[in-house]
Amino acid sequence: MTRAAVLTSTGTPLTIEEIDLAPTGADQVRVRLHATGVCHSDLSIVTGALGHPLPAVPGHEGAGVVTEVGAGVTSVRPGDHVILNWTPSCGACWFCAKGEPYLCDRAGADAVNAPYASLGGTRLTPVLGSAAFAEETLVLERAVVPIPAGVAFEVAALVGCAVTTGFGAAVNTARVQPGDTVVVIGCGGVGLSIVEGAKYAGATTVVAVDVTDDKRALAADLGATHTVDGTAADVERQVRDLTGGRGADHAFEAIGRSATIRTAYRVTRRGGNTVVVGAGRHDDLVSFSALELFFQARSLIGCVYGSADVARDFPKILGLYADGALDLDRLITKRIALDHVNDALAAMAAGEGARTVIVFE
Ligand SMILES: [Zn+2]
Ligand SMILES: [Zn+2]
Repeated sequence: MTRAAVLTSTGTPLTIEEIDLAPTGADQVRVRLHATGVCHSDLSIVTGALGHPLPAVPGHEGAGVVTEVGAGVTSVRPGDHVILNWTPSCGACWFCAKGEPYLCDRAGADAVNAPYASLGGTRLTPVLGSAAFAEETLVLERAVVPIPAGVAFEVAALVGCAVTTGFGAAVNTARVQPGDTVVVIGCGGVGLSIVEGAKYAGATTVVAVDVTDDKRALAADLGATHTVDGTAADVERQVRDLTGGRGADHAFEAIGRSATIRTAYRVTRRGGNTVVVGAGRHDDLVSFSALELFFQARSLIGCVYGSADVARDFPKILGLYADGALDLDRLITKRIALDHVNDALAAMAAGEGARTVIVFE
């Protein structure tokens, strides 16, 4: 038995339940979670904005210690510290062979369909194959990446989603270059990590746009050269004024809404990149005129999991953190117990704070 936060139907609070984990399969590992970040995608699954088979255990930004491995597992042993990887790529499909494991054909279905757990005889699905809102989880071997034992679990957890997504958006997806100008719209855990990634890549102007004062202040502390209040009527003009009147080389949208995607597109310079990092609703349509798509010559780029190869990028990011090149501690704005996960989701819905981390005793 393990304690887990279960989502039975969308729009209702998670309930803390004692669930039964399935026996560990040959290609699976059990992980005792030490820290799990509360990500916006979890909120979207709880509200129903993102569809997922239910009942389910959310949480996909986790780190912990391997407690048991299946007979065929070779990459980790009990006692190893790991970060969960929510796109457990197969290594064999067309996308994996092409070096795009974040687009793996099989990761999603394999992760959700693997044996996981039940509650009162009813099968539970592990959200994104992770189910990290729980004291212990059961995942595929390829859903864990070992890390050095000295890394703080709270930081490691954030590397599992927000940091890799944001850092990767700047470094892998947009390939920000020294001297570039960058705008980041939405400064939660992902947006702040884009700010840090852009700074690391050598951007000289980084404009952070957010509706809350505290997140703009945090963005400035983490490397944004300018901040703009997202509630202002003239956001576009302010960004243009800060980017030579042309707009930015790269505009990142880290919210997942049509209106802010339009804003990001309009504050991108002609020929620049508009990068959609936020996961929005399937029915939230964005409009572009046929003329502007041609004439503005902007690239509109979707970014999944920071276009990361996690086996390469988790260690790279942790190395930069160890060297002091990335400040990941300040992304954590609150620590809670699992029992308070609904409060964390409510705070996130209200736009409060950067990242809340569930810390397990
Ligand atoms: Zn996430
Ligand atoms: Zn694959």
